[in-house]
Amino acid sequence: MHDLATAPRVLATPGALRLQSERWRAAGLSVALVPTMGALHAGHRSLVARARQECDRVVVSIFVNPAQFTSGDDLARYPRTLRADLALLAAEGVHAAFVPDAGAMYGSGFATAVAVGGVVTSTLEGAHRPGHFDGVALVVAKLLVAARADRAYFGEKDAQQCAVVRRLAGDLDTGTEIVVCPTVRDADGLASSSRNVHLSAAERAQALALPEGLAAAARRFAAGERSGPALAAAATAVAAACPDLIVEYVAVVDEDTFEPLAQVDSRARILVAARIGATRLIDTLCLGAADAPTTAFVVGATSPVGSEVAPAGRSRTCSVSS
Ligand code: AMP
Repeated sequence: MHDLATAPRVLATPGALRLQSERWRAAGLSVALVPTMGALHAGHRSLVARARQECDRVVVSIFVNPAQFTSGDDLARYPRTLRADLALLAAEGVHAAFVPDAGAMYGSGFATAVAVGGVVTSTLEGAHRPGHFDGVALVVAKLLVAARADRAYFGEKDAQQCAVVRRLAGDLDTGTEIVVCPTVRDADGLASSSRNVHLSAAERAQALALPEGLAAAARRFAAGERSGPALAAAATAVAAACPDLIVEYVAVVDEDTFEPLAQVDSRARILVAARIGATRLIDTLCLGAADAPTTAFVVGATSPVGSEVAPAGRSRTCSVSS
């Protein structure tokens, strides 16, 4: 954080962003892009901090992208806190905020689609939110084209999105390096998310079954379990104890292809999605990531796979729900 916060320059159109980036690049400065939908929290801040460390100039986009919301999602309900967001970006020393409206991104006559094919977009989030990754691919392609960034920063919490974006950036030769940053969690262990503000205290207590379920799977993995379905079942069992938690999927997949794994060799990704009330939450961690220990999360105990440890002594959450 900076003592003297300078407000980021606010850019409203892709053309303005492109011009700004070209100026920076012409001056020999490296450019970072951090795409967000706003309602910024500690997770976003970690991406910004990494971008500030690694690049000369940082632009954060704030755009609640209608194209990636599916019929089951509530676009209108998504939190919007632009003033607070800009204050946070100023405090973080961000140089520019790209804040377009939908018209600036998808003008009249807009007719272009961007679709990443394969299992990585058809499974899990892709299956439960049809069209979601088309919207993500479209907006990310537009942002990468406009920002001409050297690096773009994304969060591991949205691991499938990261895999889609990596594929897109590589296939389109955007020249932007995709950097994936570890998941940041609130003090109780829930992955920080803009959607968490919608949770009541009782809902939040049950939502903790997501990280706790992942932690249970991580403990099984550390104990030698290598069956993908058995590891998924360990997480599912925790969530199943929470009556109001509606689990959409728990899956153990290959980190890059997102193909389901019957057997884990050395590492795999476990992902969970669930609804509680009107709120949909996702969480994930990497099993066997010795080189990326901060990606693991273990509740209430030290673990060979994790360095982020929740407050010790907290017990299972569902017994306290209403
Ligand atoms: P969003 O505003 O939810 O679209 O997120 C913008 C970016 O922040 C995405 O790359 C997310 O993966 C990332 N992000 C969201 N929550 C977290 C978190 N808890 N930890 C790290 N990154 C996050």
